[in-house]
Amino acid sequence: MSDNRISSRNVALRDFPRLAEIDRTNLWHPYTQMREYAQQDPIIIERGEGPYLYDIRRRRFLDAFGSMWCSVWGHNHPEIVKAIQTQAATLCHSSLFSVSHLGAVELSHQIVEAIREDFRFADDPTTLNHVFFSDNGSTAVEVAMKMALQYQNQIGQIARTHFLTFYDGYHGDTFGAMSASSIDVFRQKFAPSLFKVTNQSYPMQVDPDEKPDNWRMADRNLEATMAGMSNKLAAVIIEPVVQGASGMRPLCEDYLGRIKKYCREYGILLITDEVFTGFCRTGPMIASSTEMVEPDIICLGKGITGGELPMGVTVASDQVWQAFQGEWTELRHFLHGHTFSGNPLACAAASRNLQMINEYKLKENVKARSREFNYALRREVAKHPRVGAIRQRGLAIGIPIKDAKGAEDAGYLARADANRVCASALANHRVILRPLGNVITIVPPLAIETEHIEEIVHALEDSLKVLDPKS
Ligand SMILES: *Cc1c(COP(=O)(O)O)cnc(C)c1O
Repeated sequence: MSDNRISSRNVALRDFPRLAEIDRTNLWHPYTQMREYAQQDPIIIERGEGPYLYDIRRRRFLDAFGSMWCSVWGHNHPEIVKAIQTQAATLCHSSLFSVSHLGAVELSHQIVEAIREDFRFADDPTTLNHVFFSDNGSTAVEVAMKMALQYQNQIGQIARTHFLTFYDGYHGDTFGAMSASSIDVFRQKFAPSLFKVTNQSYPMQVDPDEKPDNWRMADRNLEATMAGMSNKLAAVIIEPVVQGASGMRPLCEDYLGRIKKYCREYGILLITDEVFTGFCRTGPMIASSTEMVEPDIICLGKGITGGELPMGVTVASDQVWQAFQGEWTELRHFLHGHTFSGNPLACAAASRNLQMINEYKLKENVKARSREFNYALRREVAKHPRVGAIRQRGLAIGIPIKDAKGAEDAGYLARADANRVCASALANHRVILRPLGNVITIVPPLAIETEHIEEIVHALEDSLKVLDPKS
């Protein structure tokens, strides 16, 4: 460690009261009640290394929520850092308007190849060949929605202006993405300004080996709805394999295939929002490839850069892309773009990340560590009387805390108990967990090791004691 770093940390340490005051007043945190936040000393992170974050008071925290679900290698993996540094010395930014740049060219090929590899056992070779860059997950979804609308318009299906989405879905915080989302508390204050979508149920399957019966009913309703609206729907938008933000709700086996079948029958596009599930969170690079269901458009974000820089990506099929070809005056080109689309620094991080996923066999680590988590949670946590049926797909884990009467789905505002458990894990074990309503989520860096899993599970097991009647 350099002297430089030590001295900078000493300054910060002495400065804590001043920095904390600024943090409470000038810095407005996302999804945070700032009055409640101001009542505690903030954790002001200074550096990260692997799965750990270090704050300016020299405390070490285990980042068990993967810095809001995006961390792949943990923090500051030297090879990702080096890729960014090398790129920064050459070109920090150049746009994709009018010209191209090396990093975006190379990365778009890598993404297309990675998707092809994941879908190699599909019936038909994948045609997801066209990569559009934006800045974050919400914009990756906005881009997909605009692409679908413009596509339908340009193939002459001008009445197809409507989207079908799923209850408890989350697709981001910009207006189109918010309209497509259905977690009520996030959108109710904006509802009058959002456009209407049609919601269908997302049949959840907690136990990977046992399909619940309610999927048949959901399937019948879905088919009837899609048939009934068949000339109005532009696209279906879904989080494949697991809904993240509504509490890690795993999707019923084979259901994505049903959706795709109806999409094909009625000329509706299928958009999979893989902002959370992409890049091996649930195992494969692209979660829809779990059941070889190839969508027309894929949205990517979060882990794409290893979780180190912001980037959104929307990948479209040949069929979608074809509808955008024409003369300039026909105005068929895609009418969307961001200043920083495909930023070279983010491209460099993403390129290196994609190489490392193969070089370091990340998929195998996710598989092995998922099993360890599953076993450790069943042994240490599941038996607690207030813990409901644990939800897990890969390294996306949700632990529902039942209320005193045994009910599981109390909703986003009923977080008091889950919050107490997470607060205890933070205060007593320095493990950062995040409650989503009454569901405690564990979304660790994907390169996590066995010892960290033990640390997280032990912290959780011990912290659950705050819910015991006499504590
Ligand atoms: C996080 C998330 C988004 C939004 O991504 P941001 O980068 O936060 O805008 C969209 N869809 C899903 C499924 C997500 O989990």
